Amino acid sequence: MPLCNFDQYPSFALVNACVVTCDGEGDSPRDRLGIIAPGVVLVQGEKVGCVGKVSDFSFDGSIQTIDVQGRLVTPGLVDPHTHLVFAGSRMDEFQAKMRGVDYRKIGQEGGGIMRTVRATRGSDEIALLKRLESRLARMLRRGVTLVEVKSGYGLNIGEEMRLLRLGKSVSEKVLDGNEVGVKQLPRTTTTLLGAHAIPQEYAGNREEYVNLVLKMVDLVSGHENGMRLAEACDVYIESHAFSVGEAKRILESAKKRGLLVRAHVGQFEDIGGAEMVAEMGGISCDHLEHVSDKALGAMAAAGTRAVLLPGAWRTLRQQAPDAQRMQRMGVEVAVGTDANPGTSPCFDLLVALGLAVRDAGLDPEAALLAITREAAEACGAQQAGRIRAGWRADLAIWDEVDPLVFGYALGGLEPRAVIIAGKWVLEHDGDWSLIFQ
Ligand SMILES: [Zn+2]
Repeated sequence: MPLCNFDQYPSFALVNACVVTCDGEGDSPRDRLGIIAPGVVLVQGEKVGCVGKVSDFSFDGSIQTIDVQGRLVTPGLVDPHTHLVFAGSRMDEFQAKMRGVDYRKIGQEGGGIMRTVRATRGSDEIALLKRLESRLARMLRRGVTLVEVKSGYGLNIGEEMRLLRLGKSVSEKVLDGNEVGVKQLPRTTTTLLGAHAIPQEYAGNREEYVNLVLKMVDLVSGHENGMRLAEACDVYIESHAFSVGEAKRILESAKKRGLLVRAHVGQFEDIGGAEMVAEMGGISCDHLEHVSDKALGAMAAAGTRAVLLPGAWRTLRQQAPDAQRMQRMGVEVAVGTDANPGTSPCFDLLVALGLAVRDAGLDPEAALLAITREAAEACGAQQAGRIRAGWRADLAIWDEVDPLVFGYALGGLEPRAVIIAGKWVLEHDGDWSLIFQ
């Protein structure tokens, strides 16, 4: 029996749920999960009207009630780090990597990021949009309702703006000013990553390329069709990419113009970027396979999230970062797919989470927080990652009863239903059997 036979209700209540609000207070993971069981989530229009215990509610028949029979109701999942707008694959490079060739050597020989830049620049807008929509649709099927999408495969003004416009258009309908229709896809939040690599045409003149990125920052922080093309600015800080000094110039300019700031830091070595990003009040430092205690202390003080990217350390066969060390030092941890065609061809946030638990020692009970509330904080998303009265009703219903399952399972979990802004956008038919019982 399907849960719901309607495309959309103006108002409905999920009753007899194990509601995992991810909005609790306290030191223990359990407290922070904010579990209410048996609970109710009342959805009114696009928002959560209220959430509470079944015993606190009485329904008079004016509201449609849906009995979810003890199943988990969670916030829609949030992927805080992706490079989803790209063309082409790099399967042959992956094969070379698995045979022992170093990732940085592949880049020096014209492969790596620059290869995807060439393929993406050569791809027309409709083809890129179709690929993006297809990737987002796959993520939705895993319960993801908000995805951070970076540019970074354009590396000139026109191309970077084009990629950001595409990233926006899937949820904001602004592609070339024309409506592209309402899609049942996750919401996106976009990040300028003009400083992803130095393009070949600027190989002898880094300074000039950094100046070009500063112009990109200017452009995205202005308004186009009444909106900004990006909410955040990111820089790839690494000895083969951008220095801490170059990143500081770019991020300071972005911050001054009202963009959120974050960075790829410490993927191959610790060159000191995390302290700088934290001192600037950055929302996240991502990767952190190599990071000092001093940097973690600065991140904890500033509330800068660590975003762990298991798809990348697995693909590059690197040692995982230590999530427990980060959490002991007071750094909140999020997990993302880092979906990209080179170092992390991973589009499944729940698999990434399962790997973060196994490789980085992320506590399984707290794991769900890393792909909900902490992920939303890590990408600066508003009204996402928690079930809270007055916030957007982005929800997932699972054929499971214990939130520990999100850290325990390694793939195979799919939501029974997904609700975005109060609208029932995905629902699986079938029986009610649990995977684990
Ligand atoms: Zn990345």
